[in-house]
Amino acid sequence: MSRFMHPRYAPLDAYVPGEQPRDKKYIKLNTNESPYPPPPAVCQAVTRQAIDDLRLYPDPDALPLKKALAELYGVEAENVFLTNGSDDILNFAFMAFGEKGVAFADITYGFYKVIASLNCLPAQVIPLKEDFSLDYTDYLGLNKLIAIANPNAPTGMPIPLWQVEEILKSNPDSVVLIDEAYVDFGGDSAVELTKKYENLLVVMTFSKSRSMAGARLGFAIGSAEIIADLEKLKYSTNPYNIDRLTQICGLAAVENNDYFIDCCRKIQTTRERTAAALKGLGFTVLPSKTNFLFVSCPGKTGEQLYTGLRQRGILVRYFSGERTGNFIRVTIGSDSEMDAFLAAIKDILN
Ligand SMILES: *Cc1c(COP(=O)(O)O)cnc(C)c1O
Repeated sequence: MSRFMHPRYAPLDAYVPGEQPRDKKYIKLNTNESPYPPPPAVCQAVTRQAIDDLRLYPDPDALPLKKALAELYGVEAENVFLTNGSDDILNFAFMAFGEKGVAFADITYGFYKVIASLNCLPAQVIPLKEDFSLDYTDYLGLNKLIAIANPNAPTGMPIPLWQVEEILKSNPDSVVLIDEAYVDFGGDSAVELTKKYENLLVVMTFSKSRSMAGARLGFAIGSAEIIADLEKLKYSTNPYNIDRLTQICGLAAVENNDYFIDCCRKIQTTRERTAAALKGLGFTVLPSKTNFLFVSCPGKTGEQLYTGLRQRGILVRYFSGERTGNFIRVTIGSDSEMDAFLAAIKDILN
């Protein structure tokens, strides 16, 4: 840190993204990207005219995209907030609603801790239970911002909506942020509850189930009041945060939603097949409702599995730490990618 930087950032440990190596071609099962490309309609949306129009600023409200998402999710455009990737929403929400501090699980999306630190917010870190499930009663009546990834990452495990509702009811004066980055792979979305609870913010992304991590598009759904709060912060930082091409591609993606539903189904089928094969090899496999598996193998650390796989051209993620050190997180790729992964695992075990 230079002597010019504000000292309040001294304790900040920035988020470390999954590696995107360039030394050779790997099978990438490390950042929960989709193995399937966006549908042809997204490609066709990027016309010569769209490129020429790059000379103009984008629509800061991205209204056509907002309206399309509102229609898809059965809400109004005023209930939809759009950002450059959903990590931006997390930051805005922590800035906006974190005054009394923020609570989240010990094993969850690593960005919550970083964003709390960035905004100098006291963090209450709540341990998951021994079996990595989340005990919703730990979150009742906290009276501070609550951030829950549902399904959770890197465990892949969901909590049922009635538990989300109990948390909402018991924290009426603070915002409950439900991060649904993975909900399309078999979870239950809390979007309907936004009509009943003005303190609910549901956060979603085009990065996982919609095959568009490279486009950087995230959105949140909530009451008009809290969405307006987030808009205020967005208009105070970067009003043009979603570029023209992303708006166009995002709209085409929403108009082709059935394509993504199919992709998610394929990924779920591949996930269940991979989970069964790993269990057959003696692995512990947490029950996943996402596009990844969190797995461990007796006698091997996560780092050993990671290294063995990397040597065989396959990237996964491992997490240090007492409770997670024996696990790797494996993104569900295409069937042939998972076959290659399983072959590499067998090779490592021999
Ligand atoms: C991937 C992910 C996000 C953010 O993704 P963006 O690419 O920034 O939209 C948010 N939350 C969780 C739990 C994630 O895994």
